[in-house]
Amino acid sequence: MAGSTTPNEFDSPQLMTVTQAVCVAEELVSNFYKLSDSQLRQLNYDIKSASQLSPQEIVDDHFAQIVRYRAQKKDSVLGTDSKDYYLICLQDHAILDAVSRFKQLQLYPFMLYIVCHELIHIVRFRQFLQHFHVPSQERQIEEIRVHHVTREILRKSCTDDMDPVLDFYGKWQEAFDQMHEIVDDIDNEE
Ligand SMILES: [Zn+2]
Repeated sequence: MAGSTTPNEFDSPQLMTVTQAVCVAEELVSNFYKLSDSQLRQLNYDIKSASQLSPQEIVDDHFAQIVRYRAQKKDSVLGTDSKDYYLICLQDHAILDAVSRFKQLQLYPFMLYIVCHELIHIVRFRQFLQHFHVPSQERQIEEIRVHHVTREILRKSCTDDMDPVLDFYGKWQEAFDQMHEIVDDIDNEE
């Protein structure tokens, strides 16, 4: 129901909830994969919400998307000199819309699910368990795997109000996230 229009961005109390969920999600995922602090840093990612996103990082119909940024030296022929980092782009509008439509969904456990899920993707990319670019069928299989691991981590997390979130994803397994890549040319920079 579209009674009042859903806001496009998290307000400050919501942003505090999101930040808290991000911290806990990082801890849960790094514990699950037994990542040390330095391994966690080497994942080389960042998480941003709507107010920090550029138009091309905003998508409809997804709660988050991962953009892989590749910084490549202009004179590099082989492409071996590229560094990449992953940006998890939270789609505030889609998240707030779901929270307003599905009353049983609370923002904190919902964000915990979303961020854990995206972090698991990134760990799997970094550990070469999954390539970033794959045919859509393979991507769907990967999505199912990642949802499965997310559930496993969160079921054990004893988070309040997590069951409705797991139910939601049980029914909405097709809620795949979007991924795309932006290549930035940078001048030589050691
Ligand atoms: Zn996913």
